[in-house]
Amino acid sequence: MKTPLTNAILKKLLPALLALAILAAAVPGLAGEAEAPGEELLKNGDFSGPLNWQLYTESGGSAALSVADGELRVDVSDVGRVAHAIQPYYDGFRLSQGVVYRIGYDVRSSAPRQLYVRIQLNGGDYRAYYEELIDVTPELRHHEAEFTMEEPSDPTPRLCVNMGLAGEGAESLGAHQVYFDNFSLTVVDADAAVAEAADADATGIRVNQLGWRPDAVKRAVFADVATESDAFRVVDAVTGEAVFEGALAAAWDNPWAGETNRVADFSALVQPGVYRVESAEGVQSPAFAIGEDVYAELFRAAARMLYLQRCGVALDADFAGAYAHPACHAAMATVYGTDEKIDVGGGWHDAGDYGRYVVSGAKAAADMMLAAEALGTLTDDVGIPESGDGLDDLLQEAKVELDWMLKMQASDGGVYHKVTCRNFPAFVAPQEETDELVVCPVSNTATADFAAVMAMASRLYAADWPEDAARYLAAAERAWAYLEDHEGAPGFANPPDVVTGEYGDGHDGDERFWAAAELHRATGGAAYREAALALIATEATERALGWQNVGAYGVLAVLADDSLAGDDALRAAARTALETAVRDARAMIDANPYGADRAESYEWGSNMGVAGTGALLALAADLLGDEALRRDAQQPLDYLLGRNATGYCFVTGTGTKCPEHPHHRPSTAAGAAMPGMLVGGPDNALEDTYARSVLAGNPPAKCYADSDQTYSTNEVCVYWNSPLVLLLAAMA
Ligand SMILES: [Zn+2]
Repeated sequence: MKTPLTNAILKKLLPALLALAILAAAVPGLAGEAEAPGEELLKNGDFSGPLNWQLYTESGGSAALSVADGELRVDVSDVGRVAHAIQPYYDGFRLSQGVVYRIGYDVRSSAPRQLYVRIQLNGGDYRAYYEELIDVTPELRHHEAEFTMEEPSDPTPRLCVNMGLAGEGAESLGAHQVYFDNFSLTVVDADAAVAEAADADATGIRVNQLGWRPDAVKRAVFADVATESDAFRVVDAVTGEAVFEGALAAAWDNPWAGETNRVADFSALVQPGVYRVESAEGVQSPAFAIGEDVYAELFRAAARMLYLQRCGVALDADFAGAYAHPACHAAMATVYGTDEKIDVGGGWHDAGDYGRYVVSGAKAAADMMLAAEALGTLTDDVGIPESGDGLDDLLQEAKVELDWMLKMQASDGGVYHKVTCRNFPAFVAPQEETDELVVCPVSNTATADFAAVMAMASRLYAADWPEDAARYLAAAERAWAYLEDHEGAPGFANPPDVVTGEYGDGHDGDERFWAAAELHRATGGAAYREAALALIATEATERALGWQNVGAYGVLAVLADDSLAGDDALRAAARTALETAVRDARAMIDANPYGADRAESYEWGSNMGVAGTGALLALAADLLGDEALRRDAQQPLDYLLGRNATGYCFVTGTGTKCPEHPHHRPSTAAGAAMPGMLVGGPDNALEDTYARSVLAGNPPAKCYADSDQTYSTNEVCVYWNSPLVLLLAAMA
């Protein structure tokens, strides 16, 4: 049954509301850090102190960097095959839009040559803000140039010299030395500096930017909002009329966000509509909706993202729009360390890169299957080519990965860990990554995850795909047999010449437990129950539905296994494990004003953990017979959709303020963020150059930036989207 608040109404209203929000925010912009004419931006340009320069080489380039007699010296032994095969570089300054800069330096070379001096974007397509090809001779010469920063301000550009195979005659250069001195970058004129755009979330009243179902717990969080009153109200976003009045909860010190928070609970407001939360002084939140369908489009977009990550097949523009591409990665792949070529076409691109990894892919496929199972109704309107065919879209999407995984099983039952090129590609479309595909060695974790999801699939696909279901089960059992013959095998490590995602994990007990649990549920085999029982005491305490720690998947499988008697020891142990996990998660959520199960530690991909916790709570509602758990799952969802310390709704194309520059090659290649992607979110370990430059000193919950350069906070992954799909399905 449709509520009065249909998506059509929302779609019409929200652009107008958004325009209002932007108008309201169009107060004089907050200028960036003041730029003073004459200001020197480079440290130690005369090379008299500590060396701030580093050296990057690739594509056969070979060189050494040193300081000699107060000069920067580059000893080139091989120029390599591209201009940037040798690249000395300097990081640690910023450029502001509209400002005029002057760059100056002295340079000489033992052999006459050309080289490029550049200031460039430090990531993405590495495009130059300034670039000059200069001639260098044995005679020391001073160069100087002025340029205007035309692009949006960049807090972490890179100054570099491309001196590999650069310019005329470079191919005949032998070993030589190039010397630099007196590097300087100064501000010439800052009068035309462009003010930074005002933050759309400047008001500090944070909400789930999509909104809530009528019966949900509804909470906004005031972050350092100056208010003289304890009162707040909810106003109709169109008429401005107050529809609800309430009292703010007491001030709550939130050291993890560096804020004082006050919670505004308006759960009693159930009338569908579009609203804002407002302080007594009239400060307003972004607009949000109350209605039954508020997550319907998000659910479809989050699931459709996996379709857009499909590999080995052409994506049609009718379904993929700007992300359409011809079949990619269709070549035969080489099994590492051999001459053997195998077909491993298909599956999903894992993340912002185009690798395909079994452990993370198994997690994503499992989430999609669990989502289909949790819904228990046909999903056939995701907007993929299979939609409308009368078969479940979630299962058909998971099948893309399952059928690829079958190709990753070796003849002895073991499963290859991953297939990628040796290196990450540039920011190109998928069909443009054409280096040799390498299948990396079998790992126990990949094999056990494979066994688990194939056993799961043998149940779920039996009705509509009986022949495939039989193949899945046979493959799962062969994988299990392999594991029995390979106890205690070491975890996977990248071969020395492969640098793509490792997904390392030295411990396979939780994966084995999950596999045994799923195989028992699929077959009823007593040996699987015994194996699961032996493992559960040590392997099922981890609450996460992760890629590295998968014990909770096994717990869910045991508790849903109808062939186990009510007083079965395995079932009892699983129940205890789930109760412990749920109690811990609730305690963490209750201790955080924003409702994430986090405090001082936000790890790489923290949003996956938040979504997984929400999904676990919602799934536990049925398994533990506690319906309140499904309502608790709202808190992590609200965090992901905008009620967090950053004010971002962490899903691209969703809400009033969302990531626009995810670390995701198809988005960069298309020039626009693919919609429906959950980004990694805050990571206070600051694990990339951009994060270290821009986020240092931020409280943990604010260690996030919307830049394609910060892969540790703003990348996307199929297995970060899949728990969001699962969370929404389990809450429905
Ligand atoms: Zn591909």
